[in-house]
Amino acid sequence: MRPPSVDSLARSLASTGLPHPLLVDVARAAIAAGDPESAELGARQLSRRLLRPVINGTGVLLHTNLGRAPYPFADPGSYANLEFDLATGERGSRQAHAGLLLARLCGAEKAMVVNNCAAAVLLVLAALADGENVAVSRGELVEIGGGFRIPDVMERSGANLVEVGTTNRTRRADFAAVADRVAMIMKIHQSNYRIVGFTEAVEVADLVDLGVPVVADIGSGLVDAACPWLPGGPPGWLDGEPAARQTIEAGADLVLFSGDKLLGGPQAGIIAGSAELVDRCAAHPLARALRPGGLVLGALQELTLNYLHRDIDSLPFWSLATIPVEDLRVRAEALGVGRPVALMSVPGGGTLPGVEIPSAGVALDGDHAAALRAVDPRPIIARVREGITELDLRTVDPADDPTVADALQSFG
Ligand SMILES: *Cc1c(COP(=O)(O)O)cnc(C)c1O
Repeated sequence: MRPPSVDSLARSLASTGLPHPLLVDVARAAIAAGDPESAELGARQLSRRLLRPVINGTGVLLHTNLGRAPYPFADPGSYANLEFDLATGERGSRQAHAGLLLARLCGAEKAMVVNNCAAAVLLVLAALADGENVAVSRGELVEIGGGFRIPDVMERSGANLVEVGTTNRTRRADFAAVADRVAMIMKIHQSNYRIVGFTEAVEVADLVDLGVPVVADIGSGLVDAACPWLPGGPPGWLDGEPAARQTIEAGADLVLFSGDKLLGGPQAGIIAGSAELVDRCAAHPLARALRPGGLVLGALQELTLNYLHRDIDSLPFWSLATIPVEDLRVRAEALGVGRPVALMSVPGGGTLPGVEIPSAGVALDGDHAAALRAVDPRPIIARVREGITELDLRTVDPADDPTVADALQSFG
């Protein structure tokens, strides 16, 4: 029998919803392999590789593999005043809208947005310390993950690292001893690890009178330790986490943080603080290469407005993180499938190491992870421990409970 034509085979796969040119590729590959029947499987596999919403049942609030923080996608179907000043009719700055709101939110003179916090560190060093010395505590020469190592970034930026103190103890006097030969002091949050025992570290407040600009990379992106957007105030598990507003109040000249960690927004990096220093960063040639697009700025603007409105229901990360465990227990019972169990969620995303948040969910005997990942159209990501599949409801939007119940029913 003659094989079907590429075109007719591609057309027969239209129900997958993939655009025709992609179906043509799949059909061509299947025919070339002498197995036209495999085209349908190929189309399904391709479609599963595309970005789509999933249900996070892992209990990891900031799950690096699932885009870290959950946030509402913006509607891209419109022009926007991205770089246009509606008041004057002249060219404006893309840093004017989200940047302005973020500055307001963390009490900074000015703020700008780049692609991620790693980019913020790189830009600040390149713009403010190229060819100059920068003092960093030996206890803070961190690797964040994905190979992002502070000493390497510093070298690339053109700044010279001046290490001070020791791994476990660094004092104000260590910084004071090098103050006359450094252009910047950089404090880096030990986001994903802790040094415990015989330790000593210097607070930002103790460094600000050394006559050298202090830049704090707090990474995790808590904007205000008082959490005014949370009706019940800050949860206990945030204790000791540095926050942008308080770091600026303590006298830091600049604070740097991620958009998609505790801020709970899209991937971005924020540089906030002194207007003069932010302007120098914005004027550096690298700023152009590191600038975010309108979709990210739109989502950040929306997020920041929600913070300023103290609209907890529109801050998905914070609503999920602060649901009372009792509500989760009730939902676990109401699912009507699996065994309701007590679980522990974690903040995740390289923040708050060791912190666990009491949670609840359901357990099923056996490993059902692959079957749950195959649920269409919203795959469910569960965790498997010692042959038991656990689904943590803290990271599941309550609106998704019926979908979860339906999916679990088939293994129950
Ligand atoms: C996470 C983190 C970064 C990197 O942030 P990205 O937004 O992931 O690039 C940099 N510095 C610190 C201290 C961090 O915690």
